[in-house]
Amino acid sequence: MLLDIVTYPDPRLKERCAPVAEITDEIRELAADMTETMYAAPGVGLAAPQVGRLVRMLVMDPGVQEGERAPRVLINPELEPMGEVITSEQEGCLSVPLSYRADVPRWSKVRLKATALDGTPIDEVLEGFPAVVVQHEVDHLDGTLFIDRVSRLRRTLYDSKVRKWLKRKTAG
Ligand code: ZN
Repeated sequence: MLLDIVTYPDPRLKERCAPVAEITDEIRELAADMTETMYAAPGVGLAAPQVGRLVRMLVMDPGVQEGERAPRVLINPELEPMGEVITSEQEGCLSVPLSYRADVPRWSKVRLKATALDGTPIDEVLEGFPAVVVQHEVDHLDGTLFIDRVSRLRRTLYDSKVRKWLKRKTAG
């Protein structure tokens, strides 16, 4: 089932999400719906708060642009920064309106610990684009958007554009 994607400035995107206590049928169904919604958007990642569910889980498929689908579900993911700070160029987000994109500082590598949907523990090192995607998605679980990581000036300009856009939307 396709889910509605929550967009900024919805306050749910600022919440710190609660851990998944148990992988139930409900969680499996949410994972399937989130995966379907991510591909339909289309996007390379989607975190639960983006569909209004404040739990620590995300789906991602950083390689989908190259063709084959390889969706992953990460439950209660934790990241440990590794490598160096790089610039993630022109990052965007399904929850950030007006197709806004900006350069964001990210770690070049991260150690990822999580649980897979079947309960298997995950412990691996990601680098390159998958590392950037997982950092973006885990940020969502802590109530952080990529626009929280850009300069104050860029953010102010963006916020004024969003305000004007919302005004037009409600007027029309
Ligand atoms: Zn996002």
